[in-house]
Amino acid sequence: MDVAEIADQVGTPVYIYSRATFLDHLKKIQDAYVDIDTTICYSIKACGNIHILKELAEAGSGFDIVSGGELYRARQAGADLSKIVFAGVGKTDREIIEALDAGIGCFNIESEAELENLIKLCKTHGKTTKSALRVNPDISYDAHKHTTTGVKETKFGIDIERTMKIYDRYADNGAVEMSVIHVHLGSGGKTIDPYVNYVKKILPLVEELRSKGYAIDTLDLGGGYGADYETATVPSAADYAAGVVPLLKAANLKLILEPGKSIIANAGIMLTSTLFKKSSGNKTFVIVDAGMNDLIRPCLYEAFHFIWPTRVSANLVPEKRINGLEMENTEKVDVVGPICEGTDYFAKNRAIPKLERGDLVAVFSVGAYGYTMASNYNARPMCPEVLVDGDQFRVIRKRQTYEDLIKMEK
Ligand SMILES: *Cc1c(COP(=O)(O)O)cnc(C)c1O
Repeated sequence: MDVAEIADQVGTPVYIYSRATFLDHLKKIQDAYVDIDTTICYSIKACGNIHILKELAEAGSGFDIVSGGELYRARQAGADLSKIVFAGVGKTDREIIEALDAGIGCFNIESEAELENLIKLCKTHGKTTKSALRVNPDISYDAHKHTTTGVKETKFGIDIERTMKIYDRYADNGAVEMSVIHVHLGSGGKTIDPYVNYVKKILPLVEELRSKGYAIDTLDLGGGYGADYETATVPSAADYAAGVVPLLKAANLKLILEPGKSIIANAGIMLTSTLFKKSSGNKTFVIVDAGMNDLIRPCLYEAFHFIWPTRVSANLVPEKRINGLEMENTEKVDVVGPICEGTDYFAKNRAIPKLERGDLVAVFSVGAYGYTMASNYNARPMCPEVLVDGDQFRVIRKRQTYEDLIKMEK
């Protein structure tokens, strides 16, 4: 699909997703874990457009949600509700009751107080459910097993020492089946080691819980699997699976995965148009029509996104999309947005082919935490989202109008 044609029809800036790519990423994860009973719960907060959720649900994905709003999205997308896990440290009673009524698969539990509240709400509403106690991976099981001093809790998860006490106290509660242990490493980085090490740390806990009669049958390994923001820098789904599947198989554990960016990041680009070029000191700035309100990752995380003009023939695109690329016929520029903030940039000191006013520019790997973090800052209408399927495309979210900007203020 020629993306310039999309820009012609819907304007810029615009997010464009490839259906084939995110379904391929999902399939690779599904294939990698066939040897054990695995539920893949795509993390909606990475990219929650309902049309994309529908495609993923149809392809067999469950969902990881972090709010009542995401539950609503999942339901509207026709999700299999039994394949929904609900994470987050601050679930409100209203959100919990909505999820209980929906019959979701599992609540990820971040604290004792939260578990107590879930049990209470189940009882008052005549519901049963499952919990996945989130055990904090930063704490080594061996190191803390015999520690007598107090162990600290973090905002996320529960330390291992406390886990056994929580099972002793709550496992027999009659409403919430505590059969899952959960861990989410945040961002797993560029190797499989943190995942393998954590599974190794958690298995003795699983055995200890089982030896006391607590039936643990599932490990939820969370998300955070690498996505290729640069080319070929992160493990594949098969690499991760090779590390953890044998361990889980030997321990007779089922698996839940909560991938977000590894499915959707590289399925999305943002197209933006070059407005102006200006020099200041020895720097050249390319000012484009997308801003940090459309894509905040460079500003928020100093994230690298490969940037390339669409008019430069596809066979001139370098094989490797990497930071620090040196090539002939390029110019070192800062690519910046129109917003009144110094942090409104997409690339600094980046070598890209010379851009002129009107040139279309593709910002790569923006599918995850791109549109979901976009805002109306500077009263900029939110840009549209487009889904490409083969050689066809359709708008899956319209561009906002000025009227949309104020319609909730009436
Ligand atoms: C954000 C999040 C994910 C997804 O993380 P990715 O890095 O996008 O894979 C999965 N599980 C939980 C609990 C999360 O908070």
